[in-house]
Amino acid sequence: MKVYKFGGASVKNADGVRNLENILRIHSANDQLVVVISAIGKTTNLLEQILDAYYFDSQKLPSLLETLRENHYTIVRELLGDDNRVRMKLESVFEQLETILSSPHSDNFDFDYDRIVSFGEILSTKLISTYLNMAGVKNEWLDARTLIRTDHNYREGKVDWQVSEQLIQTKMKDVLVNRNVDVVITQGFIGGTEELLSTTLGREGSDYSAAIFAYALDADSVTIWKDVPGLLNADPKFFPDAVKLDEIPYEEAIELAYYGASVIHPKTLKPLQNKQIPLFVKPFLHAEESGSKIAAVKLSNPVPCYIFKTNQVLISIFPRDFSFIAVENLGDIFNCISKNKIKINLMQNSALSFSICCDNKAHKIEKLIEELSENYRVKYNFNIELVTIRHYTDDTVAQILRGREVLVEQRSRTTVQLVVNSN
Ligand code: ASP
Ligand code: MG
Repeated sequence: MKVYKFGGASVKNADGVRNLENILRIHSANDQLVVVISAIGKTTNLLEQILDAYYFDSQKLPSLLETLRENHYTIVRELLGDDNRVRMKLESVFEQLETILSSPHSDNFDFDYDRIVSFGEILSTKLISTYLNMAGVKNEWLDARTLIRTDHNYREGKVDWQVSEQLIQTKMKDVLVNRNVDVVITQGFIGGTEELLSTTLGREGSDYSAAIFAYALDADSVTIWKDVPGLLNADPKFFPDAVKLDEIPYEEAIELAYYGASVIHPKTLKPLQNKQIPLFVKPFLHAEESGSKIAAVKLSNPVPCYIFKTNQVLISIFPRDFSFIAVENLGDIFNCISKNKIKINLMQNSALSFSICCDNKAHKIEKLIEELSENYRVKYNFNIELVTIRHYTDDTVAQILRGREVLVEQRSRTTVQLVVNSN
């Protein structure tokens, strides 16, 4: 049994769905497949706008809902013409969403976020599953909210592994083993609480869902189908000469994800490593290509890998009383950072100051600076970049530094991190 994951970009139009259909048709001849699918295209962003309108500007709701419908129905029309079997399925989902939006919102924004934004994945999987059954790729649709159990930490649900493992094994095995279905279609990104309230696992969380299913089912492998040839050593947007990495050890991939390589969601790898399940990243338009493989392999001839994080803020914190940065100060500073839910990308301590580099998240950073300023002198630089190079050489560092000013630099034997002014 294999787990396949298709992201939103791979099913953003009718051609994408037909391409998925081809891959499943061919590959389900030899393997049973659990197929995890994201919301189509940019649907999650659109649902975030719908949520915003629901809270703050309900006049905008009708036209946003119209766009949501049209985005899905355009695909259905291109796939099936006037046949309205898929439309009928989707219409009842749209009605459920409209029922929520026509009653007052709760007093918990994050709870409403999850129950509304999770519709993206429900819509995409209902559309694709119904279409595939009509096209002769027999499959069964399962609701991930009944399989992945989380706590009530809305928008970043914490997975209860024991319960999820049991739910997945019982419900999926019933379909895959007892009823011998070859293809199961389910959703990425979403889970459910004990009371079956919808939760989400954090933006871009579908890779993580694929890993959870693979872990619970002891899958042979996970394949993430993407619009790139595999795992690259840099984002081609920043680095036109990017090359594909063929085989990567789990530890190395975990390091790359930790430093912000955007190809794989960071939580995905650990569960796979624990069960030694290999992860393939393959191009969905060239299914026959080998892509990249993450597994228990040795790192041979490492090539330098570049991770660029733009829109960073560097904040330096100085005690007002000229005391050295002491443990008490640091405890206080970390409390403030954690209370504001800010993730540190790099930190550095000197005799007189403590500096952090983090993403410039709207509102959050201003609030942090304001709170820190009550007890400390705070200096900050907006609009800078954090560049991480794994397996750096003097040449690769020099190349990155050309025309840039370094604000902070940290080096270990394998990794250099540079906070630089954008050029
Ligand atoms: N649809 C969700 C998102 O866009 C989850 C995912 O794509 O992985 O964040
Ligand atoms: Mg997505």
